[in-house]
Amino acid sequence: MKTMRIAVYPGSFDPVTNGHIDVIERALRLFDRIIVAVGDNPGKKPLFTTKERIAMLEESTKHLKNIEIDSFSGLLLDFVKSKKSGIIIRGLRAVSDFEFEFQRALMNRVVNDEIETVFIMTKEHYVYLNSSIVKEIAMFNGNVNGLVPPIVEKKLKEKFSKT
Ligand code: ADP
Repeated sequence: MKTMRIAVYPGSFDPVTNGHIDVIERALRLFDRIIVAVGDNPGKKPLFTTKERIAMLEESTKHLKNIEIDSFSGLLLDFVKSKKSGIIIRGLRAVSDFEFEFQRALMNRVVNDEIETVFIMTKEHYVYLNSSIVKEIAMFNGNVNGLVPPIVEKKLKEKFSKT
């Protein structure tokens, strides 16, 4: 029997953007199952709670099969092992991502040489897209249509109309 190739795609997803969805769709062409892992990092001050980020990811990926949305706190490598996976997916946008991602991937390899990081390049259209820019635009009532899934657009509007 062929073993399932399971890959973990970790991130803050605060909130999920169309760039993230593009990476997930591409990763599904390479692996049998993708586990999207929302990082519960106490050092970061997210706009959305972990629960909200998971709910938005679930809604935005319901057209996809073989995907699971989960959250983790603590060491990513431990989470990856607990899911019986040996692969971490990260997205690459511009060269600016490279230094940070390179450092992180190599450090993870020092800690556990059996876990491999795989980088996926996004569609050109999303190269400059990130969650921070989306939040900034939404905060000032700008149009984020086409940059994020419809559910995220709605949740951003709700969030900023309250403040
Ligand atoms: P983190 O805080 O871990 O960087 P993010 O949610 O910002 O979490 O990003 C998760 C992953 O998705 C990272 O590997 C990041 O480089 C990648 N990513 C984010 N936005 C894009 C995008 N527009 N295109 C491709 N990859 C992206």
